Amino acid sequence: MSRTTAAAARVLAAAAQPRTATTPGAGGPGTPGATGTTGAAASAHQRLTACAEPAALADLLVAEVQRAGYRRVLLVEPVARSRERELEVLAARGDLLLVPGRRFPGADLVRQGPAAVLDLLPGEASSPRLAVWSAPDAPDAAAALSALVAVAGACWRALRSAAEARDLARELECTQALLGGSVHLAGLGSWTWDPAGGVVRLDERMRQMVGLAATGPDVALETWREWVHPEDRAPFTGVEDPAGHPAGHLGRSAPYPFRVRCPDGAERTFIGVSVPLGAGGATVRGLVLDADGSDRTTGELVRLAQCDALTGLANRAVLDARLAEALEHAGPGSAVALVLLDLDRFKLVNDTLGHQVGDALLRQVAARLEEAAPTGATLARLGGDEFVLMVPGVDRPEAVPVVAQSLLRRLRAPIALPGLAEPFVCTSSAGVAVGHEGSSDELFRSADMALYRAKDAGRDRVAVYDRVMREDAESRRQAEHRVRRALRTDGLRVVWQPIVDLRDERLVAAEALVRLHDPVEGVLQPATFVDTAEDTGLIVDVDTWVLGEVLRQLREWRREGVGLQVSFNVSGKTLEHPAFAHRLAHSVEATGAAGSSLLAEVTERTLIDLSTATRASLGELRSVGARVGLDDFGTGYSSLSYLDRFPLSFLKIDMSFVRPLGQSARADAVVEALIALAHAHGMVVTAEGVETELQARTLREMGCDRAQGWLFGRPVPAAALPLPPR
Ligand code: C2E
Ligand code: MG
Ligand code: MG
Repeated sequence: MSRTTAAAARVLAAAAQPRTATTPGAGGPGTPGATGTTGAAASAHQRLTACAEPAALADLLVAEVQRAGYRRVLLVEPVARSRERELEVLAARGDLLLVPGRRFPGADLVRQGPAAVLDLLPGEASSPRLAVWSAPDAPDAAAALSALVAVAGACWRALRSAAEARDLARELECTQALLGGSVHLAGLGSWTWDPAGGVVRLDERMRQMVGLAATGPDVALETWREWVHPEDRAPFTGVEDPAGHPAGHLGRSAPYPFRVRCPDGAERTFIGVSVPLGAGGATVRGLVLDADGSDRTTGELVRLAQCDALTGLANRAVLDARLAEALEHAGPGSAVALVLLDLDRFKLVNDTLGHQVGDALLRQVAARLEEAAPTGATLARLGGDEFVLMVPGVDRPEAVPVVAQSLLRRLRAPIALPGLAEPFVCTSSAGVAVGHEGSSDELFRSADMALYRAKDAGRDRVAVYDRVMREDAESRRQAEHRVRRALRTDGLRVVWQPIVDLRDERLVAAEALVRLHDPVEGVLQPATFVDTAEDTGLIVDVDTWVLGEVLRQLREWRREGVGLQVSFNVSGKTLEHPAFAHRLAHSVEATGAAGSSLLAEVTERTLIDLSTATRASLGELRSVGARVGLDDFGTGYSSLSYLDRFPLSFLKIDMSFVRPLGQSARADAVVEALIALAHAHGMVVTAEGVETELQARTLREMGCDRAQGWLFGRPVPAAALPLPPR
């Protein structure tokens, strides 16, 4: 049995199991039920983890579709090209119909009458869509459908990771072929340092270079060391010492020259680069250039290989090697400092003044940095406008930011650039990290984080990586983990906060606010995870999930005859996402929710950074009847200048404005003017964070339309909302 068939048989056998084990009320064909949904999705997930074969996965998908009471599946893959094999496998099946390409045949589907068209992977641009045809006797079973989506989603993810692994393998193959070609073209020799076999294996070219016959036995490690000139042996010592650092000096990609007394008696000079093979192994592979056979001097060749071509500073390979060496020799009283430097708005220089001026600027920056760099330090350019200063043996870490400041000062001085009449002034930002343990990568990451802080704090400054930053990074990492886990394990919840009409305090709307139920931490407020979700892009998934809940709840209320509007928060990142609004429109249609009951809350930031994608999303929101309004007014730019950029239906005044109402004439005057201005633009005004009767009265007298706050109710689960009697 082939691997594929065996896997398919395994999966099918496993897939068959729950069918007999499932009780009729728990996810059987067309039987809705929360337990059924979660149970089916969880068991399907388990089955999927055991299988990554496209064919077997396709079987699984079909089995699940049929288990859920549906007949056929249509999978529309928007990015078909890289997934040819999956597509072939799927398309070859009669029960899976596949439509590649971006065409989503919505109209045809409607004509053919599928039971539902669903998104598989919320929040992913390349998300395929799934349509299922109902068997004549299958009712529209929401629970069975969502179980199906969970299975198909997981199935698709697994298919995709198999495809990605193959893409990677192809890329590797291609790189290897190119490298092989380049080595041959450049006449380089190659060797493998193999401590397990006690030998150095030389390829044909390398054997030729040292005067050996093209074929013959490998060279013993000791013999090789003896051939190398005593003064040049350093890179080749300690290589196979398991207690030492893996691959010793050879495991560095910075080029090193070495002389060899060849078996034929001649002395030749080579330049080598080498890297360790695999993690922690002492096996090293290297390439060697015959310096004697080149038109350039050895010095020139080494310089070429070690320098950044534009500025003449060290390149990344050299910096990496020196940093690793510096960390090896570091200790508590002798640390290593990294200063990452980045020119502020360099892209603008390139874009407006041209790349030649940009290059000239980079060269001058490099020259200034070189003048100011402390002795013993390595100055490197990593590419673009990123420069690094690495200082080994630092005994006073507190002096490093001072050095960084002085570098920035130097760079700030006006620079004469070709073709520019006026001297050019360019500021820079720097991130500093000092350490004596840990890896080069960690030190780099720390300095990078500090640089990010410097930029974030307004550029033209130095930021130092410290304990607070480390803790912050750690808590962000944890928040990201929690959000991912919650998305995976159904850990998000929505709570609803009443919004009342201020005239009669009648409940007119409710705002959906997300909560994360963490298995360890318990219920988490948005303040602990929304920012991280924004930074990592996970907010798209969170918002999409919340919106699904909002639509579901809206439909339920409608069925119960409750006519509430629902407000939901939508992040700028989510609106930027090309699939979001489309999906929203589609979900509104599919769930039969009334789009006109939706109030989408966006922030000022979103309107200020209004991109084409965001504008399109907002347009689509309006086209389903949703109203778009501004949340937290007063916390950002507090200017309504963007009103003409996008028409808004409502404005929510932030609680910081509401808090002093009735106690400060100035605060009252500001809010009153704001309400009048919003009204003049035809917007409904809601005051947020109303906690006292005094605030409510003052707002009412000012003509504010609506209020939300603890005075009228805290956020609660839907069942606890004080709905008006029907
Ligand atoms: P927001 O949209 O401005 O929501 C109002 C926040 O004020 C809520 O905090 C609410 O619990 C709180 N609040 C309401 N009345 C009072 C009051 O009288 N006094 C005080 N002190 N606070 C009051 P919450 O639920 O912690 O949400 C915080 C923010 O997180 C929200 O501010 C919103 O920006 C964001 N957020 C919440 N859910 C989502 C979501 O699903 N997606 C996105 N993108 N953001 C969300
Ligand atoms: Mg809000
Ligand atoms: Mg708000």
